Amino acid sequence: MEKPRIILLGAPGSGKGTRAVALCEVLGIPQIATGDLFRKNLKEMTEIGKIAKGYIDRGELVPDEVTAAMLKDRLAQPDAKNGFVLDGFPRSVKQAEILDKLLAESGEKITSVIYIKVDDEEIVSRLTGRMICSKCQAPYHVRDHKPAKDGVCDKCGGELIVRDDDKPETIRKRLKVFHDVTFPLVEFYSARGLLAEIKSETSARGINADMKDLSKKLGFIA
Ligand code: AMP
Repeated sequence: MEKPRIILLGAPGSGKGTRAVALCEVLGIPQIATGDLFRKNLKEMTEIGKIAKGYIDRGELVPDEVTAAMLKDRLAQPDAKNGFVLDGFPRSVKQAEILDKLLAESGEKITSVIYIKVDDEEIVSRLTGRMICSKCQAPYHVRDHKPAKDGVCDKCGGELIVRDDDKPETIRKRLKVFHDVTFPLVEFYSARGLLAEIKSETSARGINADMKDLSKKLGFIA
Protein backbone atom coordinates (compact mmCIF):
# COMPACT_ATOMS: atom_id res chain seq x y z
CA MET A 1 0.00 0.00 0.00
CA GLU A 2 1.30 3.47 -0.86
CA LYS A 3 2.42 5.67 2.05
CA PRO A 4 -0.29 8.21 2.81
CA ARG A 5 0.95 11.69 1.93
CA ILE A 6 -2.12 13.73 2.53
CA ILE A 7 -2.97 17.42 2.31
CA LEU A 8 -5.85 18.76 4.37
CA LEU A 9 -7.42 21.83 2.80
CA GLY A 10 -9.96 24.06 4.48
CA ALA A 11 -10.53 27.63 5.60
CA PRO A 12 -9.18 28.66 9.00
CA GLY A 13 -11.67 27.30 11.52
CA SER A 14 -13.00 24.56 9.23
CA GLY A 15 -11.94 21.93 11.76
CA LYS A 16 -8.83 21.12 9.78
CA GLY A 17 -6.54 20.80 12.81
CA THR A 18 -8.91 18.51 14.71
CA ARG A 19 -9.34 16.27 11.67
CA ALA A 20 -5.61 16.23 11.05
CA VAL A 21 -4.97 14.99 14.60
CA ALA A 22 -7.62 12.24 14.25
CA LEU A 23 -6.40 11.18 10.81
CA CYS A 24 -2.82 10.94 12.07
CA GLU A 25 -3.94 8.82 14.99
CA VAL A 26 -5.84 6.46 12.69
CA LEU A 27 -2.94 6.14 10.24
CA GLY A 28 -0.02 6.35 12.69
CA ILE A 29 1.70 9.14 10.77
CA PRO A 30 2.79 12.64 11.85
CA GLN A 31 0.77 15.82 11.44
CA ILE A 32 2.84 18.55 9.87
CA ALA A 33 1.18 21.90 10.50
CA THR A 34 3.09 24.95 9.26
CA GLY A 35 1.05 27.21 11.59
CA ASP A 36 2.17 25.11 14.60
CA LEU A 37 5.77 25.14 13.37
CA PHE A 38 5.59 28.95 13.09
CA ARG A 39 4.10 29.31 16.58
CA LYS A 40 6.89 27.12 17.97
CA ASN A 41 9.45 29.35 16.25
CA LEU A 42 7.72 32.46 17.63
CA LYS A 43 7.80 31.07 21.15
CA GLU A 44 11.46 30.15 20.89
CA MET A 45 12.23 33.50 19.20
CA THR A 46 14.21 31.88 16.39
CA GLU A 47 15.22 33.77 13.23
CA ILE A 48 12.23 32.24 11.42
CA GLY A 49 9.98 33.33 14.30
CA LYS A 50 11.23 36.91 14.11
CA ILE A 51 10.62 37.13 10.35
CA ALA A 52 7.20 35.47 10.57
CA LYS A 53 5.75 37.42 13.51
CA GLY A 54 4.54 40.52 11.64
CA TYR A 55 2.87 38.49 8.90
CA ILE A 56 1.14 36.17 11.35
CA ASP A 57 -0.09 39.05 13.53
CA ARG A 58 -1.58 40.75 10.47
CA GLY A 59 -3.23 37.52 9.25
CA GLU A 60 -1.05 37.51 6.12
CA LEU A 61 0.92 34.65 4.63
CA VAL A 62 4.60 34.39 5.56
CA PRO A 63 6.81 34.63 2.42
CA ASP A 64 7.16 31.36 0.52
CA GLU A 65 10.93 31.01 0.84
CA VAL A 66 10.73 31.15 4.66
CA THR A 67 7.79 28.75 4.87
CA ALA A 68 9.21 26.31 2.34
CA ALA A 69 12.61 26.16 4.08
CA MET A 70 10.90 25.42 7.40
CA LEU A 71 8.77 22.71 5.78
CA LYS A 72 11.72 21.14 4.00
CA ASP A 73 13.49 20.67 7.35
CA ARG A 74 10.42 19.06 8.86
CA LEU A 75 9.84 16.71 5.91
CA ALA A 76 13.45 15.55 6.16
CA GLN A 77 12.89 14.14 9.66
CA PRO A 78 12.68 10.33 9.82
CA ASP A 79 9.06 10.10 10.99
CA ALA A 80 7.87 11.81 7.80
CA LYS A 81 9.19 8.91 5.70
CA ASN A 82 6.13 6.79 6.59
CA GLY A 83 3.77 9.42 5.26
CA PHE A 84 2.25 12.55 6.78
CA VAL A 85 -0.78 14.78 6.97
CA LEU A 86 0.01 18.32 5.85
CA ASP A 87 -2.13 20.87 7.62
CA GLY A 88 -1.80 24.50 6.50
CA PHE A 89 0.53 23.87 3.56
CA PRO A 90 0.21 24.46 0.64
CA ARG A 91 -1.84 27.62 0.89
CA SER A 92 -1.44 28.80 -2.71
CA VAL A 93 -0.89 27.26 -6.13
CA LYS A 94 2.68 28.55 -5.99
CA GLN A 95 3.24 26.64 -2.72
CA ALA A 96 1.68 23.51 -4.26
CA GLU A 97 4.28 23.69 -7.01
CA ILE A 98 7.06 24.18 -4.45
CA LEU A 99 5.77 21.12 -2.58
CA ASP A 100 5.74 19.00 -5.75
CA LYS A 101 9.39 19.85 -6.35
CA LEU A 102 10.35 19.22 -2.72
CA LEU A 103 8.74 15.76 -2.72
CA ALA A 104 10.09 14.87 -6.16
CA GLU A 105 13.64 15.27 -4.77
CA SER A 106 13.02 12.05 -2.80
CA GLY A 107 10.81 10.40 -5.42
CA GLU A 108 7.62 11.10 -3.48
CA LYS A 109 4.29 12.65 -4.34
CA ILE A 110 1.03 13.65 -2.73
CA THR A 111 -1.46 10.77 -2.62
CA SER A 112 -4.69 12.58 -1.57
CA VAL A 113 -6.07 16.01 -0.88
CA ILE A 114 -8.98 16.26 1.52
CA TYR A 115 -11.05 19.44 1.29
CA ILE A 116 -13.30 20.35 4.21
CA LYS A 117 -16.20 22.39 2.90
CA VAL A 118 -17.78 24.96 5.22
CA ASP A 119 -19.70 28.31 5.05
CA ASP A 120 -18.05 31.59 6.06
CA GLU A 121 -20.67 32.41 8.73
CA GLU A 122 -20.09 29.07 10.38
CA ILE A 123 -16.35 29.73 10.28
CA VAL A 124 -16.58 33.09 12.04
CA SER A 125 -18.71 31.54 14.77
CA ARG A 126 -16.25 28.69 15.19
CA LEU A 127 -13.12 30.81 15.25
CA THR A 128 -14.48 33.15 17.89
CA GLY A 129 -14.85 30.27 20.35
CA ARG A 130 -11.58 28.58 19.58
CA MET A 131 -8.76 27.87 22.04
CA ILE A 132 -5.49 26.00 21.73
CA CYS A 133 -3.13 24.47 24.27
CA SER A 134 -0.20 26.81 24.91
CA LYS A 135 2.08 23.77 25.27
CA CYS A 136 1.07 21.09 22.75
CA GLN A 137 -1.21 23.17 20.42
CA ALA A 138 -4.15 20.75 20.73
CA PRO A 139 -7.32 22.52 19.52
CA TYR A 140 -10.49 23.04 21.62
CA HIS A 141 -13.77 24.90 21.20
CA VAL A 142 -16.17 26.39 23.77
CA ARG A 143 -19.16 25.07 21.80
CA ASP A 144 -18.48 21.52 20.78
CA HIS A 145 -15.02 20.48 21.87
CA LYS A 146 -14.60 21.53 25.49
CA PRO A 147 -11.76 20.26 27.66
CA ALA A 148 -12.71 18.07 30.64
CA LYS A 149 -11.47 20.84 32.96
CA ASP A 150 -11.96 24.52 31.99
CA GLY A 151 -8.81 26.14 30.65
CA VAL A 152 -6.69 22.98 30.91
CA CYS A 153 -5.53 20.71 28.06
CA ASP A 154 -6.86 17.13 28.29
CA LYS A 155 -3.74 15.77 26.64
CA CYS A 156 -0.84 17.45 28.45
CA GLY A 157 -2.32 19.62 31.22
CA GLY A 158 -1.10 22.81 29.51
CA GLU A 159 -2.95 26.13 29.77
CA LEU A 160 -5.54 26.83 27.04
CA ILE A 161 -5.26 30.19 25.30
CA VAL A 162 -6.99 32.12 22.49
CA ARG A 163 -4.64 32.71 19.57
CA ASP A 164 -3.79 36.38 18.88
CA ASP A 165 -4.76 35.92 15.25
CA ASP A 166 -8.24 34.67 16.21
CA LYS A 167 -9.35 38.30 16.79
CA PRO A 168 -12.36 39.32 14.59
CA GLU A 169 -10.46 41.71 12.24
CA THR A 170 -7.69 39.20 11.72
CA ILE A 171 -10.22 36.41 11.19
CA ARG A 172 -11.83 38.40 8.35
CA LYS A 173 -8.43 39.03 6.80
CA ARG A 174 -7.48 35.35 7.04
CA LEU A 175 -10.77 34.35 5.41
CA LYS A 176 -10.14 36.76 2.53
CA VAL A 177 -6.65 35.29 2.07
CA PHE A 178 -8.20 31.82 2.04
CA HIS A 179 -10.74 32.74 -0.67
CA ASP A 180 -8.30 34.68 -2.84
CA VAL A 181 -5.14 32.60 -2.56
CA THR A 182 -5.85 29.15 -1.10
CA PHE A 183 -9.23 28.21 -2.59
CA PRO A 184 -7.83 27.89 -6.16
CA LEU A 185 -6.05 24.77 -4.85
CA VAL A 186 -9.39 22.95 -4.79
CA GLU A 187 -9.56 23.22 -8.58
CA PHE A 188 -5.81 22.58 -8.91
CA TYR A 189 -5.97 19.22 -7.11
CA SER A 190 -9.40 18.31 -8.47
CA ALA A 191 -7.98 18.57 -12.00
CA ARG A 192 -5.33 16.03 -10.97
CA GLY A 193 -7.94 13.62 -9.63
CA LEU A 194 -6.59 13.89 -6.08
CA LEU A 195 -9.44 15.71 -4.35
CA ALA A 196 -11.85 14.20 -1.83
CA GLU A 197 -14.44 16.59 -0.42
CA ILE A 198 -15.84 16.11 3.10
CA LYS A 199 -18.35 17.98 5.26
CA SER A 200 -17.20 19.96 8.28
CA GLU A 201 -19.86 18.40 10.55
CA THR A 202 -18.87 15.44 12.66
CA SER A 203 -21.11 12.36 12.55
CA ALA A 204 -22.67 10.94 15.70
CA ARG A 205 -19.91 8.33 15.80
CA GLY A 206 -17.24 10.97 16.28
CA ILE A 207 -14.26 12.39 14.42
CA ASN A 208 -12.00 9.36 14.84
CA ALA A 209 -14.64 7.03 13.37
CA ASP A 210 -15.21 9.49 10.50
CA MET A 211 -11.49 9.66 9.75
CA LYS A 212 -11.25 5.87 9.89
CA ASP A 213 -14.08 5.55 7.34
CA LEU A 214 -12.41 8.14 5.13
CA SER A 215 -9.05 6.35 5.37
CA LYS A 216 -10.73 3.11 4.26
CA LYS A 217 -12.48 4.89 1.40
CA LEU A 218 -9.19 6.37 0.23
CA GLY A 219 -7.50 2.96 0.48
CA PHE A 220 -5.03 3.82 3.27
CA ILE A 221 -6.28 1.08 5.59
CA ALA A 222 -8.05 -2.19 4.92
P1 AMP B 1 -2.64 28.39 10.84
O1 AMP B 1 -2.39 27.89 12.22
O2 AMP B 1 -2.49 27.32 9.79
O3 AMP B 1 -3.95 29.13 10.70
O4 AMP B 1 -1.47 29.45 10.50
C1 AMP B 1 -1.32 30.63 11.27
C2 AMP B 1 -0.52 31.65 10.45
O5 AMP B 1 0.77 31.14 10.12
C3 AMP B 1 -1.15 32.03 9.12
O6 AMP B 1 -2.17 33.01 9.22
C4 AMP B 1 0.08 32.53 8.35
O7 AMP B 1 0.45 33.83 8.76
C5 AMP B 1 1.17 31.56 8.82
N1 AMP B 1 1.22 30.37 7.94
C6 AMP B 1 0.89 29.09 8.24
N2 AMP B 1 1.04 28.28 7.18
C7 AMP B 1 1.50 29.06 6.17
C8 AMP B 1 1.85 28.83 4.81
N3 AMP B 1 1.72 27.62 4.25
N4 AMP B 1 2.30 29.90 4.09
C9 AMP B 1 2.44 31.10 4.61
N5 AMP B 1 2.09 31.42 5.87
C10 AMP B 1 1.63 30.40 6.66
